Amino acid sequence: MKTEKYKKLIQQRILQTIDEWSKQATVEEQVIHRFFHNLKGTSGTIGLLEVEKFSEAKELLFSEKSSKAFPRDKWSEHLLPLNDLFPHLSQRLEELENEMLIADRMVDDHSIYRDRVLVIDDDVDFVTYVKEVLEKQNYPVSIALNAERGLKLFYEWKPSLILLDIVLPDKSGMYVLNQIVDKAKQEHIPIMMMSGNVSIENQIHAYRTGAMDFLAKPFDIDLLTALIDNRFAMKKDWERSIIIDELTGAYNRKHFNQMMRHHIESYKREGHIFTLVMLDLDYFKQVNDTYGHIKGDEVLQAFVATAQAAIRPQDIFCRYGGEEFALIFPSTDAVQGALLVEHLRMKFNAVKFQAGQDCFQVTFSAGVSEITSHNSHTEQLVEEADQALYNGKRGGRNQTVVYSQEMTDAKLETFLNVIIVDDDALIREIVINRFTSWKPANHAKVQAFGYADGMSFLTADWFKEGEKYIVLLDGSMPDLDGLDVLERLRNNYPEQQLLVVMLTARNNKADIVQALQIGADDYVVKPFHMQELVLRIERLSNRILS
Ligand code: GH3
Ligand code: MG
Ligand code: MG
Repeated sequence: MKTEKYKKLIQQRILQTIDEWSKQATVEEQVIHRFFHNLKGTSGTIGLLEVEKFSEAKELLFSEKSSKAFPRDKWSEHLLPLNDLFPHLSQRLEELENEMLIADRMVDDHSIYRDRVLVIDDDVDFVTYVKEVLEKQNYPVSIALNAERGLKLFYEWKPSLILLDIVLPDKSGMYVLNQIVDKAKQEHIPIMMMSGNVSIENQIHAYRTGAMDFLAKPFDIDLLTALIDNRFAMKKDWERSIIIDELTGAYNRKHFNQMMRHHIESYKREGHIFTLVMLDLDYFKQVNDTYGHIKGDEVLQAFVATAQAAIRPQDIFCRYGGEEFALIFPSTDAVQGALLVEHLRMKFNAVKFQAGQDCFQVTFSAGVSEITSHNSHTEQLVEEADQALYNGKRGGRNQTVVYSQEMTDAKLETFLNVIIVDDDALIREIVINRFTSWKPANHAKVQAFGYADGMSFLTADWFKEGEKYIVLLDGSMPDLDGLDVLERLRNNYPEQQLLVVMLTARNNKADIVQALQIGADDYVVKPFHMQELVLRIERLSNRILS
């Protein structure tokens, strides 16, 4: 049958489920889990990758074993995004009803999509017994009576757990283990060895090769099912844990990258747009410094909890690192995305934190970028959203900024002024010459000029709003000392626009320490290599040109 036809059947099944659940007061969590699990399997099988990804993410949200009751509004919000994935879900209702019978048959066989067990063993009585018992527990089972068939099923049927006998008619079980162990590890497929003839050497060898368990035949069948349940639970926890950030419960960077790849592909293939938002807590370092890291962690957790409650089920909220987060809004343009972020802002602005007697609030800044044919790479989208975010920071924080091309243009238009303040005329000349012809990688336009002493520098009219400055300041000058000049610079000019590099003598440690305390951004020891100075300045300039 063709994919399109199956797709209709799945839509039908979803509608049926919705009807069924709607008649009940509540739905058990494990039922919701099973629904998404089956949907994942079915859609994966027929190649509806987007539905498969979506169901997989949802499946992880619901426990397989819990009988917690979900009222209608709670389960329906998780099913609603399916409307986007199946655009004709509601319209096609009638047409689909005709195919109900076939759909039912397929759904009855839903167990083929559950955790499945491959048994590779030539003892026919044993394997049929195991199959019967495991299938009663809802685990679909396939049987291979020899190694060759076992390997074939491993690659084609894709089991989630393997029971492997050591003695097989064609090749040994150890051979099979060797063949599949790497792929099995990659895909978190536990391999359980079985043998009626268990030598310690065999066991050691199997464990060393990568088998997870070793069972001596004959064994109690309840022991086997308990072990298998346990291994599947472990597998599930593990698969969940590798995409969840431990501290906050948000998705982690790994999942972010996967989801970005997935959405970018879907955009290129089918033109489905999405919007990326980068979010960064404002003055978060101050929270840590004032109230301690534990409070800081609490703020991060509260931010994530607030975000998860504020976003839609289809949105993907990730911890990008530290106090930086990323949000992917599928099927959403930049303007809608910004509105959704403002909704989150409203919620988070209402959250109050308590630390001893103090009550405080935390804000965040956000940058928004929508996918287009010009930026359809993860790095570039992140770069654009970051650029917008930093504009938000500079604009006073606690705000959302949508990226525009002008931001990049403005960056290209930025003037970077390199000023050398030194009484040594030769050094001034070398520095000015070198930096006048300098083309930094960040494309800023560079101008270089110099002053012979601190006083003439401080009283000159060189500062222009909107331009950036890197001042190379000689530590010892005849009139005003370099440290005095530094102090006045720090008191009178904005830090985001002006960086100071002290030029000091090698034997003057105390001066270096003092300079850094007053607020120098870096220092260079005289005599210096021009190349080293250029590298340092380049690195520093990225800080103010972001
Ligand atoms: P801005 O408004 O410009 O973003 O200022 P900021 O202070 O928020 O930014 P900055 O990048 O200077 O500081 C971020 C701080 O976040 C520094 C780091 O110690 C802290 N941080 C990163 N990860 C964690 C974490 O897991 N827990 C806690 N408590 N702090 C963290
Ligand atoms: Mg921050
Ligand atoms: Mg930060």
